[in-house]
Amino acid sequence: MTYRMTAPTQALHFAQALGGYRPEDWHPQSAGFRWVQDGAGERIERSDRGTFRSVRFTLPARYRALPKSYAPFSPFSDGSVLIHSGQFHACRTTPCAGTDALPIDIKATGKTIGVEARRIADRARFVSRDEGTSIFVGRLVPEAADGFIAVIDPGLPPIARDHLRQSLPRAMEDFARSYGALSFRPELYVSIDARPRKDGHVSTQGGTLPGQVFMHFDGENARQRVTAEAPFWLDWFFAHEAAHLFQQDKIGKLAGDETAAWIHEGGADALAARALARRGAEERSYVESRVRAAETICEKGLASAPLDKATAAGHFDLHYQCGLLIWLAVDDSVRAGNGDGLHAVNKTLFALVKAGAPWDEKAFVAAAQKNGAPQPLMQRIARLVHGGYDDPRDDVAALGTAALSTVWRD
Ligand SMILES: [Zn+2]
Repeated sequence: MTYRMTAPTQALHFAQALGGYRPEDWHPQSAGFRWVQDGAGERIERSDRGTFRSVRFTLPARYRALPKSYAPFSPFSDGSVLIHSGQFHACRTTPCAGTDALPIDIKATGKTIGVEARRIADRARFVSRDEGTSIFVGRLVPEAADGFIAVIDPGLPPIARDHLRQSLPRAMEDFARSYGALSFRPELYVSIDARPRKDGHVSTQGGTLPGQVFMHFDGENARQRVTAEAPFWLDWFFAHEAAHLFQQDKIGKLAGDETAAWIHEGGADALAARALARRGAEERSYVESRVRAAETICEKGLASAPLDKATAAGHFDLHYQCGLLIWLAVDDSVRAGNGDGLHAVNKTLFALVKAGAPWDEKAFVAAAQKNGAPQPLMQRIARLVHGGYDDPRDDVAALGTAALSTVWRD
């Protein structure tokens, strides 16, 4: 890998140091270069502080679990690899945010390069921007599917692989049927590298970048981790992320803020729940177990503070758990009069936000009420979000009952 500058530079700066990953794995090919820690970031420079116009590294395309950051490489079992371009963003000067556009030229003779929803043979050029993108390099062929690209590792246990082949298109088709097709072609990647590591490290990491959803299983017992809890949690993960793609595409921007994250996180979880519940009895039981777990976690969490204080209290997970119950309870109440349930609420909400309303609780309440959610339910939700209860148990239990009722209706 070579960095080429348009003018001589004294150093190449990286915004995030990634816990020592680059100094460990990126080896400068000419003598006289060194890595230097620099605040939260790091830089490569010549030991004599002289200028340079290019620097060449050799580096292994191996997985590294990074705290709060996506791995630079996610290898597939056949030797293909997914590369996160954002970890290669660099600056010639500081401050360096790591979001400057980086023109990248990839050569991979005999392989396919998947980038920006295109598949190109041997060599590709593109500009990596903002937080970067995932680039596929290898020989795997995407699953046959309309409207999106899915690459599933052949090294996954066959049961999980066959299951995902059907499950991924199904979530996308389900949502497209309710909301219309996406305006872009998303990419879904599932990779596995089950070789045990010398340090014994194991990792399962899922993530998203604009238009892309990915999951990587790494290290010993990776295959067992794929099939734990059947493959349903993996279905849920992809359906949740697919739901975000639809939220974002249909409102024309990223949804939400930190205090009302229950609207988009709970909303995505509820869409995943509804999509899975209608697939079969086993899936429905899985959804039921998620609803019951959400009830326990939400009740316990809200006992100390209402939902709008959850982020500040370090309980961001409550946005998912309580948000799932809120959305499914609204779904249940709306379905009584309008079979479209939460999809009707979503369509109203998306239209409001697209027309300029902020993505917030006010818009959610307006959309729920317009579609027939009754006043007592909305008061219950407002109480759990803003407080005014002695004990959240009864309100959470009522949401839980309604949530199960809608799940069993499918
Ligand atoms: Zn989410």
